[in-house]
Amino acid sequence: MASESVESLAGVGPKSAPLYREVGIESVGALLDYLPYRYEDLRFATPAAQLLASDGEVNAVGEIVAVKERRIRGLEIVEVRLRDDAGDAFGAKWIGRNRYVYGRFQAGMRLFVRGRVERTLAGPVVAVTQYAQLAPGQNYRGELIPVYRASKALASRKIAAVVKKNMARLLAAAPPDPLPPAVVARRGFASIDAAYRSVHLPETPGEAVAARERLIFGEFFGMAAAAALRRSEREHDTDAPRVRIPEGYLERFAAQLPFALTAAQRTVIAEIWEDMTRAHPMNRLLQGDVGSGKTVVAAAAIALAAHNGIQSALMAPTELLAAQHAAKLAPLLLPFGIALEAVFGSQGARARAAAVDRIASGEASVAVGTHALLTEAVAFARLGLTVIDEQHRFGVAHRARLRSKGAAPHTLHMTATPIPRTLAQSVYADLDVSTIDGLPPGRTPVATFAVRVGMLDRVYAFARALIERGRQVYVVAPAIEEGETALTSAIAEAERVRAEVFGELRVGLLHGRLAGREKESTMQAFARGELDVLVATTVIEVGVDVPNASLMIVLDAHRYGLAQLHQLRGRVGRGAATSYCVLVYPDEAGETERLETLTRTNDGFEIAETDLRLRGAGQFSGTQQAGRTELLFGDLARDAALYREARRDAEAVVAADPTLAEPGHAGLRAHLTRRANPAKLLLSS
Ligand code: ADP
Ligand code: MG
Repeated sequence: MASESVESLAGVGPKSAPLYREVGIESVGALLDYLPYRYEDLRFATPAAQLLASDGEVNAVGEIVAVKERRIRGLEIVEVRLRDDAGDAFGAKWIGRNRYVYGRFQAGMRLFVRGRVERTLAGPVVAVTQYAQLAPGQNYRGELIPVYRASKALASRKIAAVVKKNMARLLAAAPPDPLPPAVVARRGFASIDAAYRSVHLPETPGEAVAARERLIFGEFFGMAAAAALRRSEREHDTDAPRVRIPEGYLERFAAQLPFALTAAQRTVIAEIWEDMTRAHPMNRLLQGDVGSGKTVVAAAAIALAAHNGIQSALMAPTELLAAQHAAKLAPLLLPFGIALEAVFGSQGARARAAAVDRIASGEASVAVGTHALLTEAVAFARLGLTVIDEQHRFGVAHRARLRSKGAAPHTLHMTATPIPRTLAQSVYADLDVSTIDGLPPGRTPVATFAVRVGMLDRVYAFARALIERGRQVYVVAPAIEEGETALTSAIAEAERVRAEVFGELRVGLLHGRLAGREKESTMQAFARGELDVLVATTVIEVGVDVPNASLMIVLDAHRYGLAQLHQLRGRVGRGAATSYCVLVYPDEAGETERLETLTRTNDGFEIAETDLRLRGAGQFSGTQQAGRTELLFGDLARDAALYREARRDAEAVVAADPTLAEPGHAGLRAHLTRRANPAKLLLSS
């Protein structure tokens, strides 16, 4: 049984079972899935003559010709001279607390040693990390030793020994193979049992690599199949409201705007509208850098829906964002006679009830709000379009709940967090993607600087100069209160700059622990120009739009990912004035290289690629789970090519057998129900 406790295995007792649990191995099945992360190659001994030319740890075998031992201040130093089978000499040494080694060796013994090679006047010397005594004349025959992530109390060797001893029981706990036999045969893969065995107990490195790839392929295949199944289900669903696009509607829409649409905006509007003419629910992601103008695209979708008598709902992750969306959308929709209602958590009961009534009656064509939209009280007369801003901030269940308020509504997801292309193919597997590349004309890139905290006074002096010219300034700090961490706290910094730096200037404070209404009024005061400086945590991260703000100071900038810093920077540079972003990092942080990326480029995709290279896939929105806990074997960034292959096979299987009814697909079916929910890895549904 896969779920049986590890304690049931030979070599694991009541004392050691908790140690396994500590490293995340609860069950027999989990131990099988606990793959080595590397192997030590003990198979070949290097001849003494080649030791100096070798890299990393090596193995050597020889007969002892001399032993020299000393004790210095509690340390044992053991040095031996050996001669290998070709008659060439080399040395081996142990330095440290070597109670077991000291006094043990004598001339004539045959030894295996492993370690790094040091170059000495007397020739190569192995600094020993592992050794074994061989019988006289015994031919050395080592193995490939799997190395597992271990802990102080539970050594990799111990895990390896338990795995080896219990291999048959582990294999009996092997999960169903997601790969159909036909795919296994065509790709020339081993059986899943053989792959597990090979990855734990390989005879050659090549065998281990192939086995691991096979397991990753199976995992990716399951993930891609889940996406393909959902897509196929959507395509079989023909209940979505089909809209009609009146002749010349885009021109009519564009004519009401205070600016000319860019070519990219026109393209994505056309893509979205086209989706909405179909009876299958749209599932489209609109990605565009901060400030690229996604709101007007959402407005276009909402306007077309309203024109067809269909209601829309736009959900944003914070009150601040929802309020800004409402404020931005209302004037864009007004010329079309489209009425908008807002639904927030902090709204008064009276206002809420009125809004809810107008949404339920269909008087309001658009509802804009936060999670509050999901409450039972909110019902729609005819919801046909849901727009989800910063979709990764919502869970799968939330997105589904909003959709369930309509029959089979079209869904438009929006994100300002570009995901590197290599990840997009897997993370967005079930979504069609529209991208607004580039910014509307007339923007000057934000001039960005990375400076040490010692320069902060000068940065604030610069801020004061800008404020004297009528501009506004953001100061972002990572912590809310002092003492939570060593990081700068927003509250303390607000007090400090009020008292010591900005004196008579108007300083506001914004953080996540303030009540919604308080946040709102502070933000609005800043937006109206009644505050000169806004000290905030990253609650201002997305969407907030104050064109007069032209300096963003980020304290402890080393604490943020590049993508997040890019988001923060997007809060400025929204008006005509030249804007600045100053990334402040502590003296001791060796951060310049990473932060310099931002001083060089304003391209969100390029920044995302760099972040991926430097920090891995795990930190990208929507891939957190995928990058860490959920995927057992694969890494969406590292194994992107393998994902592509697996996806191709999965799509072919689902296209041929959309209900997975064929006997050959039983394993896949079992896999999809067993793995808690591969769908969680994806951003849709
Ligand atoms: P985001 O993609 O970050 O949501 P917004 O939709 O808030 O961006 O747009 C950012 C700013 O750009 C807004 O002030 C908006 O009015 C303006 N804008 C959008 N499209 C254009 C355009 N085609 N020409 C000029 N300004 C535009
Ligand atoms: Mg926006």
